[in-house]
Amino acid sequence: MTYRVFIAALIAAFSLSVEAHAAVKVVTTTQDLAALTTEVGGDKVTVEALARGYQDPHFVEAKPSFVLKLHGADLLVLVGRELEMAWLPPLITQSRNAKIQPGGPGYLDASLSAKILDIPTGQITRAMGDVHPQGNPHYWLDPGNGRRIAQAIQKKLSEMSPADAAYFQQRYADFDRRLTAAEERWRAALAPYKGAKVVTYHRSWPNFADAFGLDVVGYVEPKPGIPPSPSHTLTLMQEMKRQGIKLVLVEPYFDLKTPNAIARDTGATVLVLPPSVGGVKEASDYIKLFDYDINLLASTLKTQTGR
Ligand SMILES: [Zn+2]
Repeated sequence: MTYRVFIAALIAAFSLSVEAHAAVKVVTTTQDLAALTTEVGGDKVTVEALARGYQDPHFVEAKPSFVLKLHGADLLVLVGRELEMAWLPPLITQSRNAKIQPGGPGYLDASLSAKILDIPTGQITRAMGDVHPQGNPHYWLDPGNGRRIAQAIQKKLSEMSPADAAYFQQRYADFDRRLTAAEERWRAALAPYKGAKVVTYHRSWPNFADAFGLDVVGYVEPKPGIPPSPSHTLTLMQEMKRQGIKLVLVEPYFDLKTPNAIARDTGATVLVLPPSVGGVKEASDYIKLFDYDINLLASTLKTQTGR
């Protein structure tokens, strides 16, 4: 075989194998969903996230490259519950990709498999300024929901690539095992501080608080998505002093001016806590996100309480 023939044969063989085992092209809106997709999909998928973990997922600046990524996607995984309402729908339309249109075979709303909190009982519309009109969209911050999302992704990938179903099943089982072990570690780290009262900037943490026994008693924002106002801040500081609350959790993408003013007035500590994979470089996958947040929380609470 001449060298040229050999190369041609090699290319042909390679193209054939690529065709037979073409990786599923997945685009996710957030790095959290990308991390969970990678856990399950391994090397049978390619995954790209649109928003970065250090950005406010409610308000992401849409780039032309997002449309290009969506155009080539086999599967779009989104957080849903209107988290991406302000930026995603026009991009999906512009992608001209029938597969990933709402209701299409490549459209996966991860919230449909998750436990959702803060579901409004009355009439709540975005006109009132609340960016959580469909329940709390930060539900990935409960490891139980991480597991449910991973399972939904496993099911969807298996439908799209049945030949790899056993592979996805094995990857999911491995993730589930590691997550279960990690949950025991996390609960133990925070057990001494069960019921600790905190204030958070945005309403990002109800699932996390439920999972780990924190008590969120107030928010720097008057309503989700509404910037702090002097009257709300004053009421909040009075309440914090009345209840002796010494911890303010702030997502990395918010201005620290109001939290710092609150801390000066109440003697509280401001802790910048990333709610997403990629929010800080240490939070490089789903389990490491919780490792980072829980270590930081536990060490701060330990200093504060002496426990
Ligand atoms: Zn939110």
